[in-house]
Amino acid sequence: MKAHILGFPRMGRNRELKQAVERFQRGKIDAAALQACAAELKQNHWQTQADAGLSLLTCGDFSFYDHILDTLCLLGLVPERFQNEDRVVDLTTYFHMARGDRERNIAAMEMTKWFDTNYHYLVPELPDQPRFRIDSSGLYRDIEQIQAMGCQAKVVLPGPVSLVLLAKPMSAQLRRRWFDALVEAYQTLLRRLGRQAAWIQLDEPVAVLDLDEDIRREAHGVWRRLAGTAAPARLLFAAYFAPYGDNLDLVCDSGFDAVHLDLQRGRDDLDALLARLPSTTTLSLGLVDGRNIWKTDLVAARRCYQAVAARLGPTRVAAATSCSLLHVPVDLASETRLSAHLRDGMAFAVQKCVETALIAAPESPTLEAALADNQAALARFRESALAARPQVRQRLANVTETELTRSSPYARRRRAQAAWLKLPLLPTTTIGSFPQTTAIRAKRRQFKRGEMNEQAYRQFLKDEIRHVIERQEALGLDVLVHGEAERNDMVEYFGEQLEGFCFTENGWVQSYGSRCVKPPIIYGDIQRAKPMTVDWITYAQSLTEKPVKAMLTGPVTLLCWSFVREDVPRAMVCRQLALAVRDEVADLEQAGVRLIQIDEAALREGLPLRKADQNHYLSWAVDAFRLASAGVADATQIHTHMCYSAFNEIIEWIARLDADVVSIECSRSGMTLLDAFESYAYPNEVGPGVYDIHSPRLPRLDEMVRLLQKALQYLPAERLWVNPDCGLKTRRWEECEPALAVMVQAARQLRLHLSAQTVG
Ligand code: GLN
Ligand code: ZN
Repeated sequence: MKAHILGFPRMGRNRELKQAVERFQRGKIDAAALQACAAELKQNHWQTQADAGLSLLTCGDFSFYDHILDTLCLLGLVPERFQNEDRVVDLTTYFHMARGDRERNIAAMEMTKWFDTNYHYLVPELPDQPRFRIDSSGLYRDIEQIQAMGCQAKVVLPGPVSLVLLAKPMSAQLRRRWFDALVEAYQTLLRRLGRQAAWIQLDEPVAVLDLDEDIRREAHGVWRRLAGTAAPARLLFAAYFAPYGDNLDLVCDSGFDAVHLDLQRGRDDLDALLARLPSTTTLSLGLVDGRNIWKTDLVAARRCYQAVAARLGPTRVAAATSCSLLHVPVDLASETRLSAHLRDGMAFAVQKCVETALIAAPESPTLEAALADNQAALARFRESALAARPQVRQRLANVTETELTRSSPYARRRRAQAAWLKLPLLPTTTIGSFPQTTAIRAKRRQFKRGEMNEQAYRQFLKDEIRHVIERQEALGLDVLVHGEAERNDMVEYFGEQLEGFCFTENGWVQSYGSRCVKPPIIYGDIQRAKPMTVDWITYAQSLTEKPVKAMLTGPVTLLCWSFVREDVPRAMVCRQLALAVRDEVADLEQAGVRLIQIDEAALREGLPLRKADQNHYLSWAVDAFRLASAGVADATQIHTHMCYSAFNEIIEWIARLDADVVSIECSRSGMTLLDAFESYAYPNEVGPGVYDIHSPRLPRLDEMVRLLQKALQYLPAERLWVNPDCGLKTRRWEECEPALAVMVQAARQLRLHLSAQTVG
């Protein structure tokens, strides 16, 4: 093993997999056609690796939907409700597990975020009695194809400890039963695959998490029993996204043939690993960043590789990507519109394969030329794209604590806001977006393609805003929004108007299943050239007597959903973003807008994996929000929105944001989220989402009333808002209008009830 990648993106250069999967789901192509698409993509990915000069080609990383789902199918761990009569796991069963079976009314498996990435995996459901049905035939075929190319194969296999710890919570006893059972299943699997493949990469990303002592001991037992069972193939242990930290000893002592280290995020482990690694173990150095799109400094990377080779011996070191390349776009060559000086600084998956091979390549004239190219391109990039904007840096240096703090405490602000807002008890509102109809998308496309002039497009958007305002008035909502029709995406819309951002044409990254996102890229200092939202919001306000709430995306979310420069700390980029948002907030206020929502949908997902690192992040992230929002007068009401539930642990940090109102997702958990408010007296106003906008189902009046009554057990009526749990852009009008009507009715009913109580 000299150089390898931990995995390649599955979608294809032009998202061929997305198209094929969606066509299969719509019944437009059959299973054979879908399989043919997969075969072609895999062949292409292996050829890319071979052409790059990687001698070991990776398989098992491809998936129609998700690799955890694939592993469950490989082991025959299909939840009972999806089983068909002959218990065969065909593609239909596979997609039912991922997406549910509408016909038979069977709910899909749950999906959740893959560590701190924007990828989502399906949460394993492990029943009380482990039972396996291993089918590794697909992996065999992959190995054979790689061998037919004259190359060696490495199979990626998510490991048993991760499978159990990422599954739905279970008792310690059941966990141990599963560990035992899985060890045997994996031994069988490894023995079989080991006869064919050169290497097997056991992915155990949970090895970088804070683990209980019991779990550490059990995991160690599992790993020790697996090491060696793949012989004659060799077994590589891989984790990534953070340092191993206190789990390092377990990993070193387990007897694997090789251990991988993510040098982007786990560099702290390097010295300890070099000291602790048994003399027969190879170290796989994750030098090429799999989480970002920047070009690797190959001279620096080779220096590190050679230093480790000198220390361990040349046969005990391998060059690698830090993690799977799943998290970066496919090919920089597909980008035709990026300026040359930006391209100079970037590398996508295809380019990263080449970089990985070059790090381990022997000296030669071609290598010399490649290194010279690499250094020259990086120098050009640093000089142009990364050049600091002195006025931004200066402003940043002058930020004071006062600017992070509202001038009065919440209690005083509340009075100033109530005085002009004159809202009823339990005011109703929405989270910002209204349906992004096909008409809206079509017009935007026409405008972007130059088939519609700006004036006509703006007029169309104004008509759309008028329509949204009228509908909200008819529904009787208390605080209105303009509907966000002008926004394709809550980050892209702002990024496009800020200096320091750039965009790709084809830089898609898988988010879940066939869904991809195209993250913006923050390469330079951030600066706002001119107001970004003021025209739309003031126009909306001009149409109604009711207060209109402006919508902005917060600095942390702008940061978390972009690829971010790495030459300065993230906290600093976030502060620059905060200043840009602060300017927008000031302009809105100046224009008479006194309700401003700053969405921080991604605040929690930026949380570092290790507890020890979390407070540092939370402290600069919260400061960034405060910097963005605290410049307003007492009478201006700041809202924020977060769309996830698990935030009990960070509730005190949410309070420190000091937003006047926070709206959160709650309905799916039946308000259990509000438990956080039981142990912690949240000081400001809260809008717990009273219905799940992700479901097309029309919520019932009694359900909403019940949820609100539950919320009233935790929060006084004076500080409770009524709203859906997220924006409505993915819904149709036929769905959201009746739902909102019920929501308004629920609020009215409770108001009556509450006033009767006070009178009585
Ligand atoms: N204001 C945004 C919307 O309503 C918030 C979206 C989000 O939380 N993801 O669409
Ligand atoms: Zn949301």
